Parts: sequence; structure tokens; C-alpha cells
Amino acid sequence: MSAAKTARRARAAAARHRPPAVGFVSLGCPKALVDSERIITQLRAEGYTISGSYAEADLVVVNTCGFIDSAVAESLEAIGEALAENGKVIVTGCLGAKTEGGENLVRKLHPRVLAVTGPHATEEVMQHIHAHLPKPHDPFTDLVPPAGVKLTPRHYAYLKIAEGCNHRCTFCIIPALRGDLVSRPIGEVMREAENLVRQGVKEILVIAQDTSAYGVDLRYRTDFVGGRPVRSRFIDLVRELGRLGVWIRLHYVYPYPHVDEVLPLMAEGRVLPYLDVPLQHAHPEVLKRMRRPAAGERNLERIRVWRAACPELTIRSTFITGFPGETEEQFEYLLDFLRAAQLDRVGCFAYSPVQGAAANELSGALPEAVREERRARLMQVQEEISRARLRRKVGSRQRVLVDAVGPHGAVARSSADAPEIDGVVYVAADARLRVGEFFDVRITGSDAHDLHGVLVDAASAKGTT
Ligand code: SF4
Repeated sequence: MSAAKTARRARAAAARHRPPAVGFVSLGCPKALVDSERIITQLRAEGYTISGSYAEADLVVVNTCGFIDSAVAESLEAIGEALAENGKVIVTGCLGAKTEGGENLVRKLHPRVLAVTGPHATEEVMQHIHAHLPKPHDPFTDLVPPAGVKLTPRHYAYLKIAEGCNHRCTFCIIPALRGDLVSRPIGEVMREAENLVRQGVKEILVIAQDTSAYGVDLRYRTDFVGGRPVRSRFIDLVRELGRLGVWIRLHYVYPYPHVDEVLPLMAEGRVLPYLDVPLQHAHPEVLKRMRRPAAGERNLERIRVWRAACPELTIRSTFITGFPGETEEQFEYLLDFLRAAQLDRVGCFAYSPVQGAAANELSGALPEAVREERRARLMQVQEEISRARLRRKVGSRQRVLVDAVGPHGAVARSSADAPEIDGVVYVAADARLRVGEFFDVRITGSDAHDLHGVLVDAASAKGTT
């Protein structure tokens, strides 16, 4: 008998004496992570346990990503591994919505999977789980915390305020996978945020495909927050979140004119002075071919206005190099933009064709070597900018939130550092350091991406925000 069969039999025998266990593999972006959290929360609410190993799970859910080809390959590999190691697999997420020649791609390549759904499909996934692994009789609802089960550390959490997107950027297939923008009413969003704070979350990262478009689809409908009527509108939501007394960090904000309204809230310290603005390029022709939202905005001017309103502001952005038809001059224009804009944090991808994206039909595709070489040049320019901007912080005092503590000190983040994607602040070892707590740090050194510092003093060591 094969090892996998033996393991399956042992599982079946053990399963007769314990609640059903579901294994979970979560891939993809923070939006997919939130979908995973919802499914896991529902599973726990119904009395399932979550298993950390294929061998002990009665069934495995794989939440996939289908954004770029490397993510597709990683997801397909994860499905194959779950099938080989466990055998009972349900697939959800962006890749689950993909077709090839009119056939579902996952089913075509892995016909043994039990079921396939697209993204944002908690109920559908639960129905499939019920069909293949019936739910236990005695649901342990009291074991589920009010904010649901989180996959992030206890002290920060993502808050998804909307799903889908009304834009049609030519390099992106998210609208095809997730549909048009659907915002959650502000009352519902705030209830989730309040629960997170009650749970001990100290930093909320606000996400959506297009955060600043929040509420457009609802026509900014009025809803109730703590009994007060409030409109489901970007600025109102940021204002409400700013009352919670925790760090609020805004991601995926397009530079529409109404974004200017949040800068005073940042200057007043209500929300973090941090804007993640995915610009993708600077040259008008390239932006037009990308069909980017807010492409007509004068971004340099806008950045100047933002910094004047809030000098502490950290601006993060992402760019694509080697988009089809991008000339050397257009790329140089982008580098000049970076030198002028002096952005604090920058991520960059060499353009990579995504199956089903409209950009594949554009003329002027560039060789991979050119796309990659431009990416490396852009990162080199940005590294110098980042190094210089961080150097200016040496000697300053920064409030940080500690992510990890080890024998040599702590890894922490300031208002300028989003988890996973930005740099960090390394804090010298000190017995007072605790994970998930705020501390004040004197910055003693810097490099290309990170800062180094020491705790200021015992009196100021602890605080809230
Ligand atoms: S704004 Fe563009 S890149 Fe972002 S999700 Fe919408 S279509 Fe995709």
C-alpha cells in the first residue's frame, strides 16, 4: 500500500474520534488573504478544526492567485502537492476563475480536485466543504473571536473595504476575475474595524483594488456607525477609522483630486502619514496605453501639494518597466519623474504578459532582457533616493510598532513602513521590547532601505499611538 494510502486510512480511523480537520494553503495578495481569513473564520464557527499538515487534514482548501504567470505556476504546483499528499482538495481564488479554450484551467490540469470556485466565494467554498466533509453536530461558535480568525500577527490586520474594480488597465485581469467595484457599507466596515481593535489589533491596513473609489458604486449611501448616520465615502471612512486610536494605513489609493482631503487628517495624526499610490508609470503615452485610472492627473504637482499639507508624509508607489511600446525616451522620462518626485518607497516589476490581458494585443513587445535591464536601472536610481531620504532621519525620534524580538534586538516598523513590502527599523536589544507594542526610538543609522535605532528612555518606552 502506498504511503499516501496508509496515511489516508490512518486519517479516516482517527477522524471517527475528533472534529473534522481542514488544511488550508493561502497564496496571493492581501485581498486573497482576507478571503482565506473569512473561510477559516466560518470553518471555526462551524466547529471544524484547522490542520497544519496534509497528513492530519481530512480535506485541503487551496486559495490560489492568478495575477501573473509565476503566481499561476506556484498555485498549480500547490494544488498538485495537496492532491499528492492528501487527495481531497477544493480550489478557490483568482486562478479558479481562469479558463483556457473555454475549459476551467484548474479542472483541465488537475481533474481530481473535488471542486473549484473563483475568488471572494466563502459561501460557495463552504457548500463544497459541507458536501465532502459534513460539518460536526456541535459548533464551537464560542471559540471564534468576534473579529474572525486572522492569518496576520495579532497586532496588525488587513481591512478589505471593497471588492472588484471599475477600471480596465490593459495589463490586469482582476476586473475579469473579480468583477466591478462592490463597496461594503460603512457600518459593516466600521463594525469589523472596531472588533479588530477590541481584539488587540494596533494597526489596520486598509485595502481594496481601488481604495479611493470606495463608495462610488453605493452612490455614497448613508449607513449607521454607532447610531450616527455616516456616508459610505472614502473621506468619511478615513475620518471614522481615525477615531479608533490605532494606526490606520491606506493602501492602493489612486491620486484622484478628492484624496487631497485626507492629508489634513494625516497632518493631525488621526491616520498614518502614509499613502500607497500605485502609479505604474509617469509618461502620458505609456499611461494611456496602460489605460490607468487618474492618468491625466498632474502627479508631481499633486505630490508637492500633499507634502506641503503634511511634511511627514511617506509616499509609496509601484512601477512597471518595459511595457509594450515603451521607448528608451519614455523610460528615461520615468527615471526623471522619480528623481523629481523623491518617493520614499518604490516597488518595481519588469512587465510580464498575463494570460487574457488586453496588453498582450499591443504592438511593440520588448525582449525580457530589456524589461529586466530597465527594472534594474530604475531600482538603482530609487536606491540612491531612498538612501538619501532615510539618512535624513538619523537623529530623529520615531514611534515604532514591534513585529519581532530576538536576542540581538527587535524588528519594528515606523509610520513609513508597511509590513512585508517596505523597510524596517532595527532596534538594539533591550529587555523592555515586546512584540505588538509601541515604543519610541532614536534613529542612530540608516542604509538603502532600513533604519537602525535605540529605545529613547524608560519613561517614553511605552505608549499607544
Ligand atoms: S485599477 Fe487597474 S490594475 Fe488595479 S485592479 Fe483595477 S484594473 Fe487592475
